[in-house]
Amino acid sequence: MNNFPSVFEAINDLSKDQIEGLLILARKFKERDHDKPQFPNKLPIVANSFLENSTRTKNSFAIAIKRLGCHYLDFNTETSSLNKGESLEETLLTLYAQGVDLCIIRTSVSNQLSEFKNNTPVKIINGGDGTNQHPTQALLDLFTMQEIGIELEGKTMAIIGDCIHSRVGHSLCELLPQFGCNIILCGPSDYVPKTPEYEGVEISNDLESTVKRSDFLYTLRIQKERHAGSTEAAKHYDTYHDKYGISRDKLKAWNKEVPVFHPGPANIGVEISSDIIKSSLYKGYDQVVNSIYMRMAIITAILSNNDKNIGIIDGTRIRD
Ligand code: ASP
Repeated sequence: MNNFPSVFEAINDLSKDQIEGLLILARKFKERDHDKPQFPNKLPIVANSFLENSTRTKNSFAIAIKRLGCHYLDFNTETSSLNKGESLEETLLTLYAQGVDLCIIRTSVSNQLSEFKNNTPVKIINGGDGTNQHPTQALLDLFTMQEIGIELEGKTMAIIGDCIHSRVGHSLCELLPQFGCNIILCGPSDYVPKTPEYEGVEISNDLESTVKRSDFLYTLRIQKERHAGSTEAAKHYDTYHDKYGISRDKLKAWNKEVPVFHPGPANIGVEISSDIIKSSLYKGYDQVVNSIYMRMAIITAILSNNDKNIGIIDGTRIRD
């Protein structure tokens, strides 16, 4: 895969060819074509640095790293010197000097990784930054859609929920229209943009008409931790399930028993009902299964990009 970026922050960092390359590689990993070690000469060291809570993403990266045969470093931020005031850049240069080749980073600060694109302390994959992007989630969702046989060209997917505050929603809006899929962002007016921000994406506050026009649905959690006490955002909490929650009854009544995706964690009884989660319409576990293979593909692509401009200080690389 030519010119794969050394800091993978956003879907727009990749060309369509690179995205297609990742899909092919993920499929090969899934078919166990690549069980032989990917890095036979020197095993790379990959660190998982999660500066914010995570269950699925952190574990899925950890498993992907181990299945590729790389050394795994669980970089525990709570006990690191980040808590003594050390900058993220200094921390990453230190990890690089210790031999770390790639760092997976999750942060609550949107766009925090952009500054490393020109002056790269270590290779970086964005594991989700604030409300900005979660590109590996969107790529594994695309992979899952292909794996379950959804043909995206000319189809419409509704993203239902707190779209404004969802980094997953933003990454999906950058990714799926490239494959011919239209998106409707649906939710109360405080959870969706006033006007569309992406090509191929429209906005609606009406769940019934949105679902009726959609071929499959993507539900999102209300991102309360990002509402910072906003009363506008909070006023929808109690009525959300009735108005925007996806349940078997609603889908039956609207004659739309279609696949339902969710990136997790799901708040059952809020954005999604338990009878959907327990049904074959729910694709959340397929997303979890496929996350391993897509993340193996992304890690392989970034580690194989031969970029020598890493860890340079004053023109000199800080390690061989
Ligand atoms: N797990 C996803 C994320 O980290 C979705 C969510 O938290 O709602 O953005």
